[in-house]
Amino acid sequence: MTDQPQRHLQLLSVVAPVYNEQELVELFVTRACAAVADFAFELIVVNDGSSDATPQLLDRIAERDPRVRVIHLSRNFGHQAALTAGLEHARGDVVAMIDADLQDPPELIPKMVERWEEGSDVVYAVRKQREGETAFKLATASWFYKLFDKLAQVNLEPNSGDFRLLDRRALDALLAMTERSRFLRGMTVWVGFNQTAVSYERDARHAGETKYTLRKMLRFSLDAITSFSHLPLQLATYVGLLSAGIAFIAIPVVIGLRFADSYLPGFGSVTIAILLIGGVQLIALGVIGEYVGRIYDEVKHRPLYIVREERNAPQAHAGSEDSSEALLPGAAPALLTRAGLPARMR
Ligand code: UDP
Ligand code: MG
Repeated sequence: MTDQPQRHLQLLSVVAPVYNEQELVELFVTRACAAVADFAFELIVVNDGSSDATPQLLDRIAERDPRVRVIHLSRNFGHQAALTAGLEHARGDVVAMIDADLQDPPELIPKMVERWEEGSDVVYAVRKQREGETAFKLATASWFYKLFDKLAQVNLEPNSGDFRLLDRRALDALLAMTERSRFLRGMTVWVGFNQTAVSYERDARHAGETKYTLRKMLRFSLDAITSFSHLPLQLATYVGLLSAGIAFIAIPVVIGLRFADSYLPGFGSVTIAILLIGGVQLIALGVIGEYVGRIYDEVKHRPLYIVREERNAPQAHAGSEDSSEALLPGAAPALLTRAGLPARMR
C-alpha cells in the first residue's frame, strides 16, 4: 500500500479555527494538548475575528504554553478561510484539522496518526452519530450530502466533516489549490493519495451555539457544489432543450386543433406558459450569476485572510524578513507570496 514500511512523526500540527468561543477555548486547548502530548506537536489556534473574550483568553494561553501558536485574523473571514490560514502556517509533517467546539474529540487524533504511520495520507473521521444537533440541521446536512454526491465528481463520505489528518504531501497539494471559495473536505478528497476513514461518535457542542447560520450554511453548500460540479450550469441547457422541444411539438398540435375547430382561446394557459418559461430563464441566469460571481472573486486574487497578529510564531518566522519560503518548503510559490504577505503586514 505504501512506499515506506512505517513512517515516523517529526512534528504534528493541530489546526483549529475559533470564532466567539469564550466558553470553551480553554477546555479545548487543554484537551487537545493532553490528547497529543505524546507527540512533538504544535497547536495552531486561528482566532477568526472573535468579538468576545476569546482573543484575550488565547493570548493568555499562548503566554503560558509555547506549543500553542495563536493567529489572530484581522476580522471574521469564515470557517474555511480560518482553517486555510492555520494550514498555511502549519509546519508539521502531519497536520490535523479539528473544530474547536469539542464536537470532534481531540482524543481521536492519536488513532488517526496511527493510520498515517501505516501509510495513509489522508485520514478522515466519519461520525457514527451526531449528538445534540437539531433535526433541521441533520435533515439539511443529509440532503446536502445526497445532492453533492449526485452532482460532484468527488466521492465525499456523507458523514465526514473537516475533522481530518493530512500528510505533508497531501497538504501541499491542497495548499496549491488557490481557489477562493473553499470546500476543504471536498478538496482533501480531490487531491487523492491513500485515503482512510476512522469512525467516532460526534458529541454535542460543549458550550455556545453553532456559528453556522442558515445563510452561512446555504452559502457554504453553494460554494461546495459550484466548486465541484458544472451540472447546474449545464442544467439550463437541458431544461432549455426540453422546453424548446415541447414548443416544437406543440406548434403542429395547435395548428391541428385550429383546423379541427376545437380551438379554445386560452389566455390562462398562455400566461402560465410565459411565467413558467420566464421563471426557468431567470433561474438559469441566477445559476450563471452564481458561477460568474465566483469567477470574479477568483480573478480579484484577494488574499483569503489577513493576519493581524501572531503569538508564539516560530523563530525563523519572527526573525527574518523573507521567511515564508523557509516555512513551507514544498508549497507552490504563487501561494507563498499570497500567504506570506498578509503574515508580514503586522
Ligand atoms: N468558526 C470559525 N469562523 C466562523 C464560523 C465558525 O472559525 O465564521 C469555527 C467555530 O468556532 C468552530 C468551527 O469553526 O470551532 C465549527 O463551527 P460550528 O461548530 O459553529 O459549526 P457546526 O459544527 O455547527 O457545523
Ligand atoms: Mg460545531
